[in-house]
Amino acid sequence: MGGCLKKRSLLKMPTSVDYLVVGAGLTGSTIARLLSDKGREVLILERRRSPGGNVIDFLHPSQIRVHKYGPHYFRCSSRRIWDFVNRFSKFYRYEPTVKIVADGQYWDWPINRDLVAKHPRSPAPRPKVKPQDFEEACLLKMPRAVYKAFVEGYTRKQWDVDPRSLDPSLADRIRINNTGESTLTPNSSFQGLPTDGYSEMMKRMIEGIPCSLGVDFLRRQSEFRARKGLVFTGAIDEFFGFEQGRLGYRAHRRCHKFLRDCSQYQAWPQVNYADRADPGLLRRVEWKHLMPPSARKQIQGTVITEDRPFTPRDPDDFEYPIPTRQNSRLSEYYRARAATVPKLTICGRLGSYRYMDMDAAIEAGFGIAKRLLSEKSKAVCPGVTIAHEL
Ligand SMILES: Cc1cc2nc3c(=O)[nH]c(=O)nc-3n(C[C@H](O)[C@H](O)[C@H](O)COP(=O)(O)OP(=O)(O)OC[C@H]3O[C@@H](n4cnc5c(N)ncnc54)[C@H](O)[C@@H]3O)c2cc1C
Repeated sequence: MGGCLKKRSLLKMPTSVDYLVVGAGLTGSTIARLLSDKGREVLILERRRSPGGNVIDFLHPSQIRVHKYGPHYFRCSSRRIWDFVNRFSKFYRYEPTVKIVADGQYWDWPINRDLVAKHPRSPAPRPKVKPQDFEEACLLKMPRAVYKAFVEGYTRKQWDVDPRSLDPSLADRIRINNTGESTLTPNSSFQGLPTDGYSEMMKRMIEGIPCSLGVDFLRRQSEFRARKGLVFTGAIDEFFGFEQGRLGYRAHRRCHKFLRDCSQYQAWPQVNYADRADPGLLRRVEWKHLMPPSARKQIQGTVITEDRPFTPRDPDDFEYPIPTRQNSRLSEYYRARAATVPKLTICGRLGSYRYMDMDAAIEAGFGIAKRLLSEKSKAVCPGVTIAHEL
């Protein structure tokens, strides 16, 4: 009887750890790994059934590797980031090539300087003018005809808003390749894909660190207590119960098809669709192209995936923060709100409400881990019981 009572009261005690990391994506796993490497006590909570967040992949029965949330091409120019990911996986060299369908034809994506030069501009753009929106920023980089053919339609499909309502900084992601360059990111020093896939790499990254899968922290926060720090890598508006409204997100619905009798469906790994022939279709990926040539040869059939953008309601589907002025203002509110909660760090793709490539997520994780590790002198402060902070 006594034992039973004791067990019951123990069950009510929150699990108390020094650092609670919510989310086992690249950001959370990088931070957890670095804290754990330095001997800190860490618990990871992940609401999905497997770690890895947005980068997870799986092997289709045909042995073709598919990235569950769209193709993830790893590239970086930082030796430190490259060494970090290589701790957990070997990589094979892979430089993605992407084509875009515009005006009914296939073109290289990114477009190149030759194409831009074929469309003389009058009046000439004034590069010193600070663009006010995405369209203006694009028109400083390329002629209107090129913008209309290659960028405008694709942008409307992807974001479902007028390109003039999007932040000019989004245009920074549009590269114009030099003549002769035909890959997606020719300037990155390190490029590749993990030999055994991202899911395996992510499992190895958090090896030895306690990780509870299938736990939604926001539903069960009274069960956990973070003594020194809570790192939350989910959506920042969801963390605060959408109290000032919802931030906008886009996502892709992915339809995977296995074509048993087809050895190659398209000549490139990824084809983007800028035209309106199929208004919902944004891109088509053929996964075999991402595999090392030796593995590819042995496979029968092919797997293709068609991506169609939509506006998700369920936070588990959130993929891309929509960079409009309105969202930017609201995310500022949530960031300021987060800054008032002691020991709380909200970060990552959805926490910082900003698209970040994998290398950027890791780099941000390095910075956060460094800050948390340098805060050790403050560790004697009473811990935070998160439920009371909300
Ligand atoms: C479609 C798409 C394609 C991309 N392609 C590339 C690419 O080619 N190259 C590249 O470098 N980058 C790419 N990226 C970016 C890459 O996916 C991100 O850099 C990476 O996902 C960031 O990791 P994260 O940990 O910040 O977020 P996530 O991967 O989203 O991880 C957050 C984790 O937190 C968990 N979580 C959320 N809320 C809770 C909660 N309440 N309780 C418990 N767990 C919770 C989630 O389940 C998730 O696992 C792409 C992104 C998208 C959307």
